[in-house]
Amino acid sequence: MTETEAQRQKEIQQAEELLFAGPQALGFAKGLFQGHFVSDWVMPYPRIPAAQQTELDKSLAELRQFLDKDLDPVAIDREADIPRKVIDGLGRIGVLGMTAPVEYGGPGLTQMANCKILEEIGSRCASTSVFVNAHHSIGIRALLLFGTHQQKQKWLPKLVTGEQLGAFALTEKEAGSDAANVQMQARPSEDGSHFILNGEKRYITNASIAQVLTVMARTPVPGSNKTAITAFLVTPDMPGFEMLEARMPKMGIRGTATGRFALHDVKVPKENILGAPGKGLKVALTVLDFGRTTFGACCTGAAKTCLRLAVEHANTRKQFNKTLGNFHLVKKKIARIAADAYAMEAMTTVTASLIDRGLEDYMMETAMLKVFTTERLWECINDAFQIYGGSAYFVDLPLERMMRDARINQIGEGSNEVLTSFVALVGMRGPGMEFKEIYDTMLRPSRAGIGRAWNAGMNRLGATVRVPDVPVRSSEVRWFANQLGRLIWRFNLAVNRALIVYREPILDMQLVQERIANAAMDLFASTCVLSRWDSELQFARRNGESGAPKNREAELFLRQSFRRIRGFLGGLNDNDDKAILTAADSALGDR
Ligand SMILES: Cc1cc2nc3c(=O)[nH]c(=O)nc-3n(C[C@H](O)[C@H](O)[C@H](O)COP(=O)(O)OP(=O)(O)OC[C@H]3O[C@@H](n4cnc5c(N)ncnc54)[C@H](O)[C@@H]3O)c2cc1C
Repeated sequence: MTETEAQRQKEIQQAEELLFAGPQALGFAKGLFQGHFVSDWVMPYPRIPAAQQTELDKSLAELRQFLDKDLDPVAIDREADIPRKVIDGLGRIGVLGMTAPVEYGGPGLTQMANCKILEEIGSRCASTSVFVNAHHSIGIRALLLFGTHQQKQKWLPKLVTGEQLGAFALTEKEAGSDAANVQMQARPSEDGSHFILNGEKRYITNASIAQVLTVMARTPVPGSNKTAITAFLVTPDMPGFEMLEARMPKMGIRGTATGRFALHDVKVPKENILGAPGKGLKVALTVLDFGRTTFGACCTGAAKTCLRLAVEHANTRKQFNKTLGNFHLVKKKIARIAADAYAMEAMTTVTASLIDRGLEDYMMETAMLKVFTTERLWECINDAFQIYGGSAYFVDLPLERMMRDARINQIGEGSNEVLTSFVALVGMRGPGMEFKEIYDTMLRPSRAGIGRAWNAGMNRLGATVRVPDVPVRSSEVRWFANQLGRLIWRFNLAVNRALIVYREPILDMQLVQERIANAAMDLFASTCVLSRWDSELQFARRNGESGAPKNREAELFLRQSFRRIRGFLGGLNDNDDKAILTAADSALGDR
């Protein structure tokens, strides 16, 4: 077996273990790749239950009051530190343990409600929202999801109040995007009572201020010479824990403490293992799903701030005797920010609701949300920046800070390139397996094989002849729903065609994957927007409002998103891929 083949086998085995353990309900994103519109997960637009909404409103009011008074994003950026009184205040309001169950001291809010809290913080200070994410979305997430009752009882109460802080430590020098390549070693002691950890972690948010770190390390697989990743709870008071760099100086989110640490023969009791031994990669990736969801919320908050700032400036700054908002090229930017902010909120809400409603596998949706919202926010900030002209460049306005802060979003918690490729490959796996069934049976016919191939063929055929129905309730959005259905049908044809034309090599064709993933992301975003718009129309109708409320942002978003989707699908047949790859190879030289 060549090295590449061995690597591919390893990746497939890891992916199988992570993603495809047993039959599961068909999620929305996977459905898209099969040509289905799985409406139950996205329509009607999810709402926070009334009882919880009251509690959330109270928390939000308290949070806003506190942030107005005590949060100074400029000072946090300048001093590269989040003051303890801010952390304590967030703990007091309950922000640091929002989703923790009541029995462990949290308010037990849903992920949807939690996203509203993060949106509020993200609209004001990215350092603070990343700090909260590092602690609550990922730092204590493995404990919340995979901890035993005893572990939760022992560790959670202090973590949910912020008396203690959490961190999530996966990244190492050799394990960045390639998260499975963790090298930190965890050797079992002879008596089996503990593990001995050795290795280094880097780029870890909260590492130097956390009292409890979820650390991924490699443990031997009993009865074989293999190793697998296991999640451990590590505390910095354990002998052998060395903080190499408490606060690595950096460009943005400067208030967060991003650190490097080493473990030298650190003895960690076996009781500190989270989840099953050897299943740490699944633990890590599930944790990151939650992080990616609140990422979407933080980006939504920041995009809304961009809109507010852009509108304020466009309505007051005069040039050529007119306010800037009179110029069409300024209008275009403002319209796009408004449309994107609306879509980002809708997509975050729907994705969070998938978690709350118990969809088992939402990895694709959270990956789509993360890529989409982080890319859109970058554009929003750039547009708002441009509207402010030279003034945005100076540090007395928030936009230069927002730009520095936002740059990490496309890299952290899975770089957008890796997630884009992931979305395409995982999505194509379903139809790909059906085609494989058909090919294999054609090459080696068998009675059982023919039955399976027939079913697979009918599935594929069904999706190519049927335009999926997008069940909206308001006549005002019916045209958009029909368009969306047709685009999903076209998308399915394009996926089928790519699988038939490229077959196995498509696994390495990232330019093709990118178009397919981008189209899928816009289909998901459009669905969320349509669902939200439809529900707003229904709400207005129920409240007896006469005439359909116009929703200009939603309409613009759908028009632009549909145009982008057509562009991505068109690019599958008309592109410069060969020239791109040749020019890149020429620049890269001999490797
Ligand atoms: C401020 C900050 C805070 C962080 N906080 C944490 C934390 O709390 N916990 C934690 O564990 N980690 C944390 N990280 C680490 C972060 O998750 C990693 O930086 C990220 O996963 C990327 O890894 P890398 O930096 O090693 O980049 P690399 O893996 O070297 O990737 C570099 C670039 O190569 C490209 N690339 C890589 N692989 C592929 C591929 N397969 N296909 C196409 N392109 C590819 C992408 O463009 C990518 O951006 C943090 C990082 C920063 C900067």
